[in-house]
Amino acid sequence: MNNKVLVVEDSRAFRNYLVQQLTQLGCEVTACESVEQTQEALQQHNDFACAVLDYCLPDGQDGEVIDLVLDHRQKVIVLTAMFDVDTRERFIAKGVMDYILKDSMSSVSYLIPLVKRLMNNVNHHALVVDDSKTVRRHVTQLLEHQYIQTTQAENGEEALKVLAEEPNISFIITDHDMPEKDGISMIREIRQTLDKNRLAILGLSASDDRTITAQFLKAGANDFLHKPFNQEEFYCRVHQILDMREANDELYKLANQDSLTGLWNRRYFFNQACNGCEIRNIAMIDIDFFKKVNDTYGHDGGDSILVTIANILKIYFKDDVVARFGGEEFCIQQCGPYDDFVTRLEHMRKRIEKTAVPHDGHEISVTISIGATNLQDKLDQQIKCADDRLYKAKENGRNQTIYQ
Ligand code: GH3
Ligand code: MG
Ligand code: MG
Repeated sequence: MNNKVLVVEDSRAFRNYLVQQLTQLGCEVTACESVEQTQEALQQHNDFACAVLDYCLPDGQDGEVIDLVLDHRQKVIVLTAMFDVDTRERFIAKGVMDYILKDSMSSVSYLIPLVKRLMNNVNHHALVVDDSKTVRRHVTQLLEHQYIQTTQAENGEEALKVLAEEPNISFIITDHDMPEKDGISMIREIRQTLDKNRLAILGLSASDDRTITAQFLKAGANDFLHKPFNQEEFYCRVHQILDMREANDELYKLANQDSLTGLWNRRYFFNQACNGCEIRNIAMIDIDFFKKVNDTYGHDGGDSILVTIANILKIYFKDDVVARFGGEEFCIQQCGPYDDFVTRLEHMRKRIEKTAVPHDGHEISVTISIGATNLQDKLDQQIKCADDRLYKAKENGRNQTIYQ
């Protein structure tokens, strides 16, 4: 999805404020102040991620701009000073995505997170589980209307299969009463391996059993909604689930990734250690004379080198666990034939030797020393062995791999 947003608002102060806030969010904003200008803008572009429209404009005081923009198949968020049940119903019936009461500048504090939510929705994939085709289609349409990718399943059994094949599912919306496997049993199975932070589940049921909500929540659902549901409430719940999911992903990154290079950190490396493969290879890597880089080009220069080296490691070992162990020391874990591992390390070492990193008008080059092992032992013993070999590589004159 693109990041283009159309803003139509006749008050100059408010329009400027909106443009400033949306631009800060990373949006490319087209701003208009009248229906006429909007018409012209739509002739130029009609591929906005969404449009934020003032209900009342000098040349269209009764929401004319909304119909115009909807006719161009754009997603609409309405800013309105009027708020009553009829207006609200009218907006929803027209297919307006959301509406915001424009009572003060503070209404922007609802709008900005909403636009951000829409932009991020493209990264999410929902699994919709219901035996009723009508419900599946309705829920799917609501989600896709807000750029969320969807997959459908007819019952709990089918959903489990989809989930096993599709690791990118970010959340599930599920009914309870279904043939083959009901929603609550399905949730219990999922929760044996995936907790609420890893995969959010929203329960959805028309059951008039007063205990149904508790049953869903106790089985491990993150939230629950009765059918038939109110569309706005549905979106609020979905947004909440996705906000939480993103916050959790962010925390996970903060806890497990190195912020400078984006590589995994030591803690992740030890948690993810592979114990199932027959062969586990380890390489310890250290940049040669790195202190000199810092001394000559400053800490910034050193950091550029670290980032570049990390990127090269990621390219050569993209399917493996690559971690920054600390300072200018890295560790790679790979499962597979040792010969191939060593060959690849050597290619990478030579590539690094030839790389010049531009910094502050200079070109900085470094070399690396590598100690590798396929010793079949506990991880810490393997690391010790690789470390000893790395030390030897340094002693032998650096810029080389010792692997036996
Ligand atoms: P050798 O070839 O023996 O490995 O020599 P060296 O200079 O690379 O090794 P040494 O361990 O003496 O120095 C490592 C330096 O790495 C010291 C430290 O200031 C620097 N360093 C550690 N972390 C960072 C960082 O995040 N950024 C930068 N710029 N420098 C760092
Ligand atoms: Mg070093
Ligand atoms: Mg060092």
